[in-house]
Amino acid sequence: MSDQQHYQQYGGQPYDGQQFDDRQYQQQAYGDQAYGEQQAYGEQSFAEPQHPQQYDGQQFAGQQRGFDEPQQQYGGGAPEAAPQYGRSSRMSESSLRVVWVYPDLLSTYGDRGNALVVERRAQQRGLGVQRIDVRSDQSVPTSGDIYLIGGGEDRPQRLAAERLRNDGGLVRAAENGAIIFSVCAGFQILGHEFINDLGEREAGLGLLDVWTTRGEGARCVGDVLAEVNPQLSLPQLTGFENHQGITHLGEGVKPLATVQVGRGNGTGDGTEGAWRDTVFGTYLHGPVMARNPAVADLLIKLALDVNALPPADTTWYDALRTERIASAARPA
Ligand code: GLN
Repeated sequence: MSDQQHYQQYGGQPYDGQQFDDRQYQQQAYGDQAYGEQQAYGEQSFAEPQHPQQYDGQQFAGQQRGFDEPQQQYGGGAPEAAPQYGRSSRMSESSLRVVWVYPDLLSTYGDRGNALVVERRAQQRGLGVQRIDVRSDQSVPTSGDIYLIGGGEDRPQRLAAERLRNDGGLVRAAENGAIIFSVCAGFQILGHEFINDLGEREAGLGLLDVWTTRGEGARCVGDVLAEVNPQLSLPQLTGFENHQGITHLGEGVKPLATVQVGRGNGTGDGTEGAWRDTVFGTYLHGPVMARNPAVADLLIKLALDVNALPPADTTWYDALRTERIASAARPA
């Protein structure tokens, strides 16, 4: 899809390169329509009192001060003999703060679903959730619990990287120990560098010790099945990939998974994604959380600083997994 089609599909005005860098254009193109959709979806599907909240820099700044000091609030999270569900060393007292970074630039293949599934899995456990969608003309709050950043086409990816570098909020959140889950373009942006739409090396945020080059061959496109690093105790991953970038892992990260079907990082060594502490990257869309709710549960466990969560129904997730795993495993 061309950039123009992308923006038209997103509900924006026809893309015009000159207009694009103008913040006013951003607001016109994405403001009301996109956020109207999110509210409707949240309320209808989950009927929860906390619907996705549109981030308002001013309003948030006030709340941010207290929330920025989790160490004081929670006593530094010193581990106790048996972690108890509901006692948290990371999370805000009242609710889990889920920050979706740049839905206006980075949201391909239903990556919005990742935010919805994290919200839903938390609510299924009786947790309050505050979802904060941060557009690219807003600053990224530093006090979230879980940050989600999705995939994107090459030009929006460059703009997102520029803005995230200038803003600095996501890096500060990572320094505070936030949980960050990134998909595809988002994954590439978290690394040291990637090749942008102009064919130039573009600096990333350096939150993951990875760097991305441009593949010379065919794009990596199709269904993926992957076995997750056993340390993470997650079931097989299912997802969909579509990328030209090839991501190389440094010593500061571990591969998230090993592919059985598909290309993953595209390096030919079978690795898929990367991970260090509470920062994750994957090439899997789908959205990945809808196909792998255990990943959403992992992020929630990290936020709560617990080893287990109460069971929650997975009927529909299981049906989707069974269908996609069978489809990917079938010889073409
Ligand atoms: N633009 C990047 C690439 O092609 C990422 C694509 C994506 O996020 N789906 O490698």
